[in-house]
Amino acid sequence: MSALAATHGAVNLGQGFPDFDGPAEVLAAAKDAIDGGHNQYAPGRGVPVLREAVATHQQRFWDLTYDPETEIVATAGATEAVFASLQALLDTGDEVVLFEPYYDSYLASISMAGAVARPVTLRPPDYRFDHDELRAAITPRTRVLLLNSPQNPTGAVFPRADLELLAELASEHDLLVVADEVYEHLVFDDEHVPFATLSGMRERTVVISSAAKTFSVTGWKIGWLCAPPDLATAVLTAKQFVTFVNGTPFQHAVATGLGLPDDYFTGFVETYRGKRDRLCAGLTDLGLEVFVPAGTYFVTADIRPFGYEDGLEFCRMLPKEAGVAAVPTQVFYVDPRRGRHLVRFAFCKTDEALDEAIERLRRFRP
Ligand code: PMP
Repeated sequence: MSALAATHGAVNLGQGFPDFDGPAEVLAAAKDAIDGGHNQYAPGRGVPVLREAVATHQQRFWDLTYDPETEIVATAGATEAVFASLQALLDTGDEVVLFEPYYDSYLASISMAGAVARPVTLRPPDYRFDHDELRAAITPRTRVLLLNSPQNPTGAVFPRADLELLAELASEHDLLVVADEVYEHLVFDDEHVPFATLSGMRERTVVISSAAKTFSVTGWKIGWLCAPPDLATAVLTAKQFVTFVNGTPFQHAVATGLGLPDDYFTGFVETYRGKRDRLCAGLTDLGLEVFVPAGTYFVTADIRPFGYEDGLEFCRMLPKEAGVAAVPTQVFYVDPRRGRHLVRFAFCKTDEALDEAIERLRRFRP
């Protein structure tokens, strides 16, 4: 969709990357790190200053204590952290319970581990899951629960009660949990409950996050994971033969970012709240049915009021015909029919770009 957007000069509300830069201090820290000679392989677990900054951040925001020596590993983005975790924790034939629609690397990572995905479907308007469907998805072969809250692409933030049920089931069935929390600082309406803060979950959870969203540096690919020593070492062992290490100067810069004062983080979420409200109001005004996200920088909409049934067809046509790009949500389901009429728009874009996209959609509207 990004390639189609470029071909047709479309406003790209498809792929989730900001069209603006992150904090100046963080960008300057990357340049300083390069000039300071931090240009060779990092240690396998990541540069100490980043691991210490992650530990301090976890304590400061979520009251979670992790040892930077043994419980934190820097990764090539959250994507590698998820990939390496699944390669490390799964054997052939193991099952993974996850929620669909999902971030698309999950299914590929599960397949490459030789494991089997057992999706539980989140349905609009609120994208909550059905507790009985969740219980039914767990079998004796289930090994890992793969969570993502706040959730891409739906924007759902799982309420505490739902997370508590997941924690209860993880204990009951002795499951490991991989919790992708890359949108931890993008929650608008509810509270973010880090999964590892729930009773008994810290010792069985690999928590994953990334600099990509929080500091608007998706191109740097600096992520990290926090887990008890045995799990962290297992994931490190898989990661060693994927990338080994990456991005030494950017690891230094992200350490600076994690230490920014509170007003950076509050300003960040307020800016995005404004963008969410702007895009949701614009899309609603056009007549689309919009499922307002409680978190992330994505919103999904039902395109049927525009006279379309198939999101894939709609998104292939839209860049050329309307000059706007979006992503068909159906590609994030095991069975695409479940999300056929849904489309995802990203609002990590300047207000001018969001306004221009709405204006173009207004002209295009049937
Ligand atoms: N997890 C989720 C849920 C995401 O939405 C994304 C980005 N789209 C990632 C991971 C990727 O993070 P990174 O760029 O750090 O690999």
